[in-house]
Amino acid sequence: MKIGFVGLGNMGAPMAANLVKEGHQVTGYDTAAPMPDGVTRADSAAAAAAGAEVVITMLPNGAILRAVAAEVIPAMSAGAVLCDCSTVDVESARAVAADAQAAGVGALDAPVSGGVGGASAGTLTFMVGGDAGSFDKVKPLFDVMGQKAVHCGDAGAGQAAKICNNMILGVTMIATCEAFALADKLGLDRQKMFDVVSTSSGYSWTMNAYCPAPGVGPKSPADNGYKPGFAAELMLKDLRLSQQAAEGADADTPMGELAARLYATFVEQEDGRGMDFSAMLPRFEKRHRG
Ligand code: NAD
Repeated sequence: MKIGFVGLGNMGAPMAANLVKEGHQVTGYDTAAPMPDGVTRADSAAAAAAGAEVVITMLPNGAILRAVAAEVIPAMSAGAVLCDCSTVDVESARAVAADAQAAGVGALDAPVSGGVGGASAGTLTFMVGGDAGSFDKVKPLFDVMGQKAVHCGDAGAGQAAKICNNMILGVTMIATCEAFALADKLGLDRQKMFDVVSTSSGYSWTMNAYCPAPGVGPKSPADNGYKPGFAAELMLKDLRLSQQAAEGADADTPMGELAARLYATFVEQEDGRGMDFSAMLPRFEKRHRG
């Protein structure tokens, strides 16, 4: 397939490299990052999109996505599909989809879970919003870049799924970390805590698959000095998106709101920036009540 790829940073570069490996013809554009091997550099986002059957974007936020989409959509052929894989606000995803539709271009919001490791290994999960025809067209590319693509519904449904998932993840990580810190203070051995909780009703992905305690459970960023992994500032970004969406939809999300506040403090006032999001455990370890 002829593919345009805009935004070849930490995630975009390995995703584009996997498409090249599979024999797709990829033309890329990034304002700063170098092109991975086999990706032809274009001079602008519009040039990368011209003549492409699918244009993939992997950008930092909704404002940048809107700016890039305004450039790219007029350059795209009718029937081509704009597939945004960035994590952005639901509103931006829906606005871009409406602009694309008005121009006769298909649009998907297809944020991912799996991080840089998943992008490199081609094992991402795609959560996809948009029309079924566009989904079917891009599905073979999802299969190259990932192991699973779920069609969640209309425009914005992919972003909705992503931020709901990550709101659960952020809240659960905090709960797991504060429980470990409490266990420490009660004199309960961390391995025993893991052995009980990982097979009891308190189990979760954060405990069982990504345990925030070093040397306990499967290998995780905790065993690597809390080097990300999934950085605390990316978790903060997603929690803020969930709160922005909750406000827009008049949804009561007290736990998500508190999680956003705690990660904001951790990233902006403490030493959380650049640490894995599971470094909430050493944060709680050092703290006292009140
Ligand atoms: P990144 O900052 O490494 O990459 C973004 C790239 O976009 C950069 O190379 C930047 O130069 C480029 N860019 C910015 N403005 C541009 C423009 N106007 N035109 C062209 N290129 C432009 O970020 P990343 O880690 O690759 O993340 C990308 C997206 O994926 C984000 O929305 C992020 O939330 C999401 N995401 C990241 C991870 C992760 O673990 N890194 C996991 C899941 C989702």
